[in-house]
Amino acid sequence: ADLSSGAIDALAWDKQGGLLPAIVQDADTLRVLMLGYMDPAALRTTLDSGHVTFFSRSRNAQWTKGETSGHFLDVVAIDVDCDRDTLLIAARPHGPTCHLGRDSCFPAAPAASASFVRALDALIADRERERPADSYTTRLFEGGVRRIAQKVGEEGVETALAAVVQSDEALLGEAGDLLYHLLVLLRARGLGLADVEALLQARHAR
Ligand code: AMP
Ligand code: ZN
Ligand code: ZN
Ligand code: ZN
Repeated sequence: ADLSSGAIDALAWDKQGGLLPAIVQDADTLRVLMLGYMDPAALRTTLDSGHVTFFSRSRNAQWTKGETSGHFLDVVAIDVDCDRDTLLIAARPHGPTCHLGRDSCFPAAPAASASFVRALDALIADRERERPADSYTTRLFEGGVRRIAQKVGEEGVETALAAVVQSDEALLGEAGDLLYHLLVLLRARGLGLADVEALLQARHAR
């Protein structure tokens, strides 16, 4: 979300009466969550607060999604389309996005995870939110960041050892353990695979 003031001014506001449609997508599952409209002030509030904020046409006022329900949408990234008249916002929901209690306002919208690791990351995010009993992941979250960090340290050492002195099968097993525990650790800090991907992508672009 690094739209500069200049970039905001350069959007095609005049084309559609000062409002642009903003598609909100789950940053982890890629699922389309909802559509809203933004004026320049709502977009600035979104950038400044990190919570997706629209201009509500029915209320004729700025509306931060979640302001009464608590189901805020935390901004992960903002993209602009080819002719600068539509926004695509990757966000992380605090709860169901639809006021009818569903995750998405489009009930049939698929959770189009681009890879199994991404799907696993989304599942870990669900576990973190719902904390089901008899789940190993729940137990990890309840143990806290230090305990999870310790697990990541152990699995990292085991992976390194396996790479030097063990079979491919053993190395793959340790790498799987490391990846899973690393995703849990990131999530315990409020982060996800999408954040690491964004960082790697930014490094690549330089
Ligand atoms: P919230 O922004 O989640 O605190 O919800 C406040 C009010 O905004 C709700 O009572 C609905 O009227 C409306 N609302 C919330 N979420 C949506 C949504 N996804 N689509 C349309 N209206 C919504
Ligand atoms: Zn938040
Ligand atoms: Zn367009
Ligand atoms: Zn809805």
